Amino acid sequence: MERKNAWLSYTDEQLNEIETLSKNYRRFLDMGKTERECVSFTIDMAKKHGYMDLNDCIANNKKLQPGDKVYANCMGKAIALFLIGKKPIEQGMNILGAHIDSPRIDVKQNPLYEDSEFVLLDTHYYGGIKKYQWVAIPLAIHGVVAKKDGTVINVVIGEDENDPVVGITDLLIHLSADQMQKTAAKVVEGESLDVLIGSKPKKDVEKEAVKTYILDILKEKYGFEEEDFLSAELEVVPAGKARDFGLDRSMVMGYGQDDRVCAYTSLEAILEVNDAEKTCCCILVDKEEIGSVGATSMDSRFFENTIAEIMNLTGEYSELKLRRALTNSKMLSSDVSAAFDPLYSSVYEKKNTAFFGYGVVFNKFTGARGKGGSNDANAEYISEIRRIMDDNNVRFQTAELGKVDVGGGGTIAYISANLGMQVIDSGVAVLSMHAPWEITSKSDIYEAKKCYMAFLKNA
Ligand code: MN
Ligand code: MN
Repeated sequence: MERKNAWLSYTDEQLNEIETLSKNYRRFLDMGKTERECVSFTIDMAKKHGYMDLNDCIANNKKLQPGDKVYANCMGKAIALFLIGKKPIEQGMNILGAHIDSPRIDVKQNPLYEDSEFVLLDTHYYGGIKKYQWVAIPLAIHGVVAKKDGTVINVVIGEDENDPVVGITDLLIHLSADQMQKTAAKVVEGESLDVLIGSKPKKDVEKEAVKTYILDILKEKYGFEEEDFLSAELEVVPAGKARDFGLDRSMVMGYGQDDRVCAYTSLEAILEVNDAEKTCCCILVDKEEIGSVGATSMDSRFFENTIAEIMNLTGEYSELKLRRALTNSKMLSSDVSAAFDPLYSSVYEKKNTAFFGYGVVFNKFTGARGKGGSNDANAEYISEIRRIMDDNNVRFQTAELGKVDVGGGGTIAYISANLGMQVIDSGVAVLSMHAPWEITSKSDIYEAKKCYMAFLKNA
């Protein structure tokens, strides 16, 4: 199947659009390094585009009309946006889904200790990481500390250029003879991913003088104490901003592009739609990287409950109509794909692999060991998607995650598919997926947004 590199087809105007989109996208990556920050950013953007808080609508028993826009915030970690369409919701929605959690290193509940006059934070990593990639790089701390009195302190340390950064040390090569014999999985072990945060003892303190000084700083600068770590969610992530990548500036390097590249393009797409035949939805969820578990994940009842509330406000709620709305819906479950990497060509089967510059990726199925754990999109649905993409000049490619039996992975697609709707995995190809700094192609980001717009309007 002959396909051409999308870069060859762009007009000057499109090249400008690509630059604007990727600049805005980089800003999103910088401002949204945790699921909570992504939700705050999304709410700000949604409000600017006329979206109302669903809770306010419920409180005021506001009747929702076609063209109305609402968002539902799930514990500050997941969010769903709805643009009410002209047709009854019972006839189905067009849904964009992506996840906003990314692999990282979480601070433990009782994390702080002093050893040899160093103060460190004990951690437990989140999601699938190659642990050796996270040492000897600048790291930042993002998150919240919920104090016993109910106040919640937002923490961001290490992003402002005047801020200090923190990090995890690595063993010097000179003394690494034994370490270098270990397998990559064991070179750096999970329990050793402790973050160094201080080394200066406080004067006139007998015991744990360095820790005492750090606690003073936490108290003065951030307003919390050691006990408050018990009810904190602090995420250690790569410090620094997303950047243009490559001498030709054709790519973006940034933390957390899995899956914020799909989340951001989905968000921009729905915000640009103002009226639609079918109700449009964009749901951005948490906890995908640890198996979509818990109240803020795709597997939570949050999504169904929210649709029930919205149908109640449009005046069409019944349990049966809710079930029909779900069954009649169509979804692009968007997540990143593995981009072909010539340095590791042996793990890919080239005909069924995603390449940079060839557009948004559709995966009929994902999974491992004979498609295990996968959603397998219906041929009839894929034919409809192909038609919509071609009619709207959206560049797309199809792919699998590497060669058969080399590995695999899952997404949120099967969960929404379980509600009875048509779902296909789609998204953007990524190099160095799950590494601290991931790489995407600006042209693929652009095609993804075009794909989402076309889907919302035409599916
Ligand atoms: Mn993902
Ligand atoms: Mn992932």
